[in-house]
Amino acid sequence: MSGLEDLYREIILDHYRNPRNQGELETPPAVMAEGFNPLCGDEVTVHIHVEDGVIVDMKFGGHGCSISLASASMMTTVTTGKSLSEAKDIIYSFKQMMSIHEGRLEEGSEETDSPMAGLGDLQALQGVVKFPVRIKCATLGWNTLEQCFEELASQ
Ligand code: ZN
Repeated sequence: MSGLEDLYREIILDHYRNPRNQGELETPPAVMAEGFNPLCGDEVTVHIHVEDGVIVDMKFGGHGCSISLASASMMTTVTTGKSLSEAKDIIYSFKQMMSIHEGRLEEGSEETDSPMAGLGDLQALQGVVKFPVRIKCATLGWNTLEQCFEELASQ
């Protein structure tokens, strides 16, 4: 497993050092939300531009630990170009991956294959769940994206 863990660490560091879709978008037409993780001091902003129910552009910014920023970077790469409902499915799957390993899987539900299979780099974050205090880092950008959806819905 250590070879795989090295690979995952490399993927996380790559997104941290070379963040994808970093920056801001003009609001409007974009909407933005800010997220804060007091446990670690991470702050993330997410801007999304939605047209006809599709996320046509997304940028993130802020500062924080490698996990929070790498996760936000990965999030932009897998959700940009998706419809809002597809993006919500991806968010759900990602959070499920985090909670399965956190031991919060509901009683009676069956172990399934990783819901993130096929989502590429995101699987690198699976290793984070071994460190529960870091899960809030990994999910920060995703929660902030959900705040953007709420912002959109309230318009
Ligand atoms: Zn953090």
